[in-house]
Formats: sequence, C-alpha cells, structure tokens
Amino acid sequence: MKTVQRYVRPRDLGQALHLAKEDPGAVWLAGGTLLLAGDYADKPASVVDVGPVLGRGIERRDGSLEIGAGLTLQSLAESEAAPEILRKAALGIGSRNVRNRATVGGNIAANRSSSALIPAFLVLDARLEIAGVRGPDSRSETELASYLAAPSGLILSVGIPERPSRRLGYGRWARTANDAAVLVAAVSFAVEGSAMKDAKIAMGGITAKARRLFDLEKRFEGLQVQGLPLDELRDQVERMALPLLVPDGQGVVSASFRKVRGAALLAQAVAEALGGPVDAPDRDRSGKGGVR
Ligand SMILES: Cc1cc2nc3c(=O)[nH]c(=O)nc-3n(C[C@H](O)[C@H](O)[C@H](O)COP(=O)(O)OP(=O)(O)OC[C@H]3O[C@@H](n4cnc5c(N)ncnc54)[C@H](O)[C@@H]3O)c2cc1C
Repeated sequence: MKTVQRYVRPRDLGQALHLAKEDPGAVWLAGGTLLLAGDYADKPASVVDVGPVLGRGIERRDGSLEIGAGLTLQSLAESEAAPEILRKAALGIGSRNVRNRATVGGNIAANRSSSALIPAFLVLDARLEIAGVRGPDSRSETELASYLAAPSGLILSVGIPERPSRRLGYGRWARTANDAAVLVAAVSFAVEGSAMKDAKIAMGGITAKARRLFDLEKRFEGLQVQGLPLDELRDQVERMALPLLVPDGQGVVSASFRKVRGAALLAQAVAEALGGPVDAPDRDRSGKGGVR
C-alpha cells in the first residue's frame, strides 16, 4: 500500500505556498479524512499540511457570507451564521468523528460525485478565493463551477452572496447512517407570483461529478408551486424530473435505482424549500407547507 513519505507543516500560509512551489509533487493536506484514509488509492508521496494555517472563520461581509476553507464540517453544521441548507449539507457526512476533521476546502477539492457540500454551494452561487495559481503570491477569485472543471491552487475561502428571499432545499440518500452519501440534491429558487423562477438545481451521485442540471432547471422554470398541497407538488416534480435524470458511470447502486431515487430526492428538496425550515424571512413557518 502507498504511504506518505514526506510531511511538512508550514508556520503560515506564505510558507505553505513556497514549500509547494519547491516540491511540485506535493499535495495539500487539510483534515486528511480522504487523503489519509486507509482505502484511498492515490496516496501522495509528499504532503504540505495546510490544516493549521487555513482560515476557520465564518462571517458576513458586504452582503456575502465568507467561509474559511479550514472550517470543519462540524463547525459549519453548528454555525448560526450559516444558512440551514449548508448546516444540513455539512451533516451529510454522517460520522461526527469525520466531521470534526473534514474541512470545507477539502470537501470541495475532493470533488466527489456525491460530495456533501458541492451541490449546496453550486445552487448558492459560491465563489472561491484561491492562492498559488500563478505563483506562490498570487490570489484570484473564481466561480465554484470553474474551479471544479479545472482544479488548481489552494482554496482559501468560499463566498456566498446573501439572498434571503430565495427558497433553499437539500436532501441526501445513503445506504446506512454512517456511510458516504450515494445521492445528493440541492435546489434554490425564487417564487414570483405563484411560480418557480430562476431555479438552480445541483445533484451528486447522478453524474461522475456533482454539477448543476441545466435541463432540469429549464424544465422547472415557471412551475406553479403555490396553492398546491406539498405531496401533490412532490409527485409532480418527481414525474417531471424522472425522464431528465440520466445517470452515468458506475455507482455503488444501479443506474436505474439512482434515477428513480434521485427524482424522489429532488422532489423532497423542492418540497423542503417550500415548506421546511429555511432561513428565508418570508418563509411560512406554520409547518403546514406551501408558500404564503
Ligand atoms: C467514513 C467517511 C465517510 C465519508 N462520507 C462522505 C460523504 O458523505 N460526502 C463527502 O463528500 N465526503 C465524504 N467523505 C470524504 C471526506 O471525509 C470529505 O470529502 C472531506 O470533506 C475531505 O476534507 P478533508 O479536509 O479531510 O480533506 P483531505 O483529506 O485533507 O484532502 C482531500 C483533497 O482535497 C485537497 N485539499 C484539501 N484542502 C484543500 C484546499 N484548501 N485547497 C485545495 N485543495 C485542498 C487535498 O489535496 C486532497 O486532494 C467521507 C470520509 C469518510 C472517512
């Protein structure tokens, strides 16, 4: 089995970036819950431990929520500043022991198909602050989707524009409580009149990497969501989603299961966005569901 041969622990971010430049084969190490896992096949020979030097804060700044890449998923799950969708997504890693080590930056960079955080961040229009793409002193900002298409550099923080009136929903499905998720769905949309507007839908576990599903977003645009019992709406969303969900690759469960369960999960996330407890101030918190 491959093991890590060289471990360096920089005293600060600047030193981390210079150490990585001197050793181009070195890989960032944060919580290590993926990289150091016994069954992880791509174990690198050399790591730079950025866990202690990455920001771990979460704060509102100029209409945006800024999350340090070093924040652990347990801290994100417990944060009062984070929207409900992110707290729920962080709990998507079932084991508290793993959440205590796993970081926001590590979860994004791991870029797994059924990533806990990526679908939620995609529908929240997350942007990343990245260091080291053009040399150790460089800093840049990029959309999350662009980073995922061509990952490069060290993620320093994630920024989310605050849009309190949007409806947000999240769902995950795993085989057991402690297992990694098989399917993840996240939605964000506005309600204009009685219709869904500007829908953003991202899923994990359907395609090789978690991503936005633009065909579904177009299909749901203008969907009547007001005045309808939530269970009827959920059935309708499920029926509409089913033909457009086309699973690819091999999963731990069959493609046909992922298609059917994925449509149900998405419908559940839409229903949650309309009737569940989210952070929108205009949310109907009566528990009866539906949109005021
Ligand atoms: C029992 C168990 C269950 C799990 N369940 C899930 C699950 O349901 N969903 C899920 O998504 N994951 C799951 N994981 C995988 C893993 O725990 C998470 O993806 C975790 O968030 C990775 O974060 P980390 O800080 O531990 O990353 P690390 O293991 O340290 O690194 C992961 C990757 O990210 C890179 N990296 C780390 N930080 C940065 C950064 N700031 N900038 C750029 N690159 C960086 C590393 O080089 C490496 O390639 C599970 C793991 C275990 C052991």
